[in-house]
Amino acid sequence: MMNQNAASLSNQGSDNTRFLSSTFHSHMPTLRARFDRYNRILKSGSADEKLGLIQELRDYIFAEEEKILFPNGDAPEGIMWQTPVDESRYGVEIHLMLKLCADFEYSGEYRLKMREIANNIAVAMAADKDMQFAQHNWSGMDLAQKKTVLRKAQKIHAQVQQLDGIQTSQNISVVFNNEARALPDGQHNPQFGYASHSDSLHSIFNSKALGWMFGTPDSIINYNIHPDNSFMRGGFATALSAMHHEQQHAFQSALALAYFEKRIDPASPYYKDAELLYRLRMHDCYVPPSIYSVYRKQALERDTFDFQHLMETHLRRPFPGSGWAKDPAQARAHGYTLDGFFGRIRKWFRGPEA
Ligand SMILES: [Zn+2]
Repeated sequence: MMNQNAASLSNQGSDNTRFLSSTFHSHMPTLRARFDRYNRILKSGSADEKLGLIQELRDYIFAEEEKILFPNGDAPEGIMWQTPVDESRYGVEIHLMLKLCADFEYSGEYRLKMREIANNIAVAMAADKDMQFAQHNWSGMDLAQKKTVLRKAQKIHAQVQQLDGIQTSQNISVVFNNEARALPDGQHNPQFGYASHSDSLHSIFNSKALGWMFGTPDSIINYNIHPDNSFMRGGFATALSAMHHEQQHAFQSALALAYFEKRIDPASPYYKDAELLYRLRMHDCYVPPSIYSVYRKQALERDTFDFQHLMETHLRRPFPGSGWAKDPAQARAHGYTLDGFFGRIRKWFRGPEA
């Protein structure tokens, strides 16, 4: 299509189109070669080539957007990871990225196992008196109490979640921040986010490739408790679901590391899934929310959003036997008041008193 347009332009006579067509022609060989290569990788490329191309297209879009937004070349480092992209400008690239992302799929066994794990976590949450109280009293809780509930949800999740004996660290750092969507001058706040997970897995893989190794990935979960975070406004199940999403990212890392360290049996039905997670983390191919349509469709995020929705559905159902928690008199009889909640739940983290 693009080549035909360029050819027909070059047959026209005016000075304007001559200028246009010469511009087109000077770009045509590289453009043509670029699209030929895209097509080849899409049709017959290896998994590594496909993930490499996702990264390349992401970086291409970011570079083009930076030229538009920062014509003087003064774009702050990494700014496009936080700045929404005008996707209408990159129809071809985004279409291609979506097709590439669709090539990476989890096994049916894995998806079924994730449902089982989500169910196990929900059962453990439902049996927990603090969670029962929080489910019925969330809207009356202050931010400190909500943070403690979110932290405990992550902790229960990490304790229950396991596949072939693989678990995440039981000591993942949860860091709460409080960032508004807009800065006081009305500009987009680049620090704004909903929740995120980070670790050093990518560098561990690469350092190992160089023949050295350090530690295990220290996962950090960040969670924005500002009311601009719609998850915080959405009530108990929605607020917790974002935490479950991030813990699932930590679990993806645990599976990738298990594959890398040969701790998962090649005969396991989840072996290929662990390998996929390893590949996804090994490559620098993550697409951030600034290219939103691709962000939601990439394999890493499909898995975490699926898990998040499973958990949200579970947590929306009133926990069985939790009726006491919505009646203040009964709750008090169980030793629960909103005022006393904070100290009570903190004790759980400290463990039994010595
Ligand atoms: Zn995510």
